[in-house]
Amino acid sequence: MDEPKELSKYYDKTDTRLNRRDFLRLGVASTAVGALTIANAPNKVTAQINREIKREAIEKNVGLFIETHADYKPFYQKNNVFGGLLTGRRPDLIPKLMKFMDKLVDKNRPGYTQIDEALAKAGFIVANEIAPTSMFGIPNKGFHAWEQRTKYQKKEVFDDNIVSDIKYEFTSKGEASSVVKRAARFFGADLIGIAIRDKRWDYAEFIDLFTGKTFGWQDFPFEPRSVIVMGFEMNYEAYATAPSLITEGATGDAYSRMSKTAFQVSVFLKNLGYRAVAAGNDMGLSVPYAAAAGLGEPSRMGIIISPRFGPRFRIAKVYTDLAFLEYDRPIKFGVQEFCERCLRCAHACPAKAITREPKPTFEPTYAHSEKWFNNPGTKKYYNDSLSCFEYWLEIRSDCGVCVTCCPYNKQDYWQHRLVHKLTEVMPGQMDSFLRSVDNIFGYGNTFDERASKTFWDSSNREYLGY
Ligand code: SF4
Ligand code: SF4
Repeated sequence: MDEPKELSKYYDKTDTRLNRRDFLRLGVASTAVGALTIANAPNKVTAQINREIKREAIEKNVGLFIETHADYKPFYQKNNVFGGLLTGRRPDLIPKLMKFMDKLVDKNRPGYTQIDEALAKAGFIVANEIAPTSMFGIPNKGFHAWEQRTKYQKKEVFDDNIVSDIKYEFTSKGEASSVVKRAARFFGADLIGIAIRDKRWDYAEFIDLFTGKTFGWQDFPFEPRSVIVMGFEMNYEAYATAPSLITEGATGDAYSRMSKTAFQVSVFLKNLGYRAVAAGNDMGLSVPYAAAAGLGEPSRMGIIISPRFGPRFRIAKVYTDLAFLEYDRPIKFGVQEFCERCLRCAHACPAKAITREPKPTFEPTYAHSEKWFNNPGTKKYYNDSLSCFEYWLEIRSDCGVCVTCCPYNKQDYWQHRLVHKLTEVMPGQMDSFLRSVDNIFGYGNTFDERASKTFWDSSNREYLGY
């Protein structure tokens, strides 16, 4: 039977890990559970349920946001893990960092063959070419350059990366956000929200880690009023292989799409007469901005969990001086309560880098002598990102195990949205049960070599183009 149109448009046809039997199996279970708990269980498809989750969550949670202490200070970019290593805090790790790109290829090890390595390298290549330092948090390079040229400063005749001297005046309250979101979607963003610029989440100061040169907001060419936050899905089947070079390929591909799309959105705004700068990991902290823009809810593993992709997406931003009349708001759909009981990522993490604290705290609590890479003063789960990164250096690959094992990491089938709906309407009550059901159904396996074979298996897969 053909899938409903609204459903089929939302997922990658090449994703076959969740087969028809699994689909029906979860469908039966979740429908039964849903029938018991929701009198009018939604019988429509994913997109509608997602909209419902988001709308209701916004209505219920106006004003909700990440709590900060009064003495909270913005984070220094030089204190992220890359910054710490490159500015000499852990000189012992530099040789390992230099070897990171020299992958541990093994033709007999699924996920680490030459084909897998090729996928990893090709995944990152666009990001490496157009925004080579953004992933380390360094701004103002490549397509993320801060320059705001006018038509008199064109570099060549086809240079359309200019701020128009005719400012487009939006005619209604919602037009600006609607138009910008439409364009962002058109250019490739999977999730889009708009937040007011909040200096708490911007880096206090910038540093070019390769030259040691520091610079600040006084060097930025305009006063940002808004931050457009975009989410980019990472392929489900690729992440099912975590940790592997296939996972790294999916991460790299998301980085490549982030830079391309954010740049196009910035040029779109410039041609409307507004100043704009594209950013990925640079400029400011993506997680609180994504939370502020309503892309999802912060989680134990530190990543934002969205209703649609769970934690399996990456975040790009565009800073602009366009002041919107309508902004998105944070959403809450039961993630924090679920995380309190779940802990699956903390148990699965091979580096033991994820906290097992029962609730979010205002400062790190793990037993680690170095805490410079964590900024206290925000109420959240504090994780040991240095131990995480040391594990990446050890395996010479991205890891991603926490993302893969998370019960919110699902393909975008309506049954999964229904289960998430349960955790939203009954926070806490169903969580332990649902986590167990997830295990029983075999979701979230990691270190699974079969997943690498499935990723490359061409049977039961459609390729268009004939
Ligand atoms: S695995 Fe569980 S505890 Fe970890 S982020 Fe996901 S829901 Fe939260
Ligand atoms: S990426 Fe891997 S090592 Fe890092 S926190 Fe997640 S599971 Fe742990």
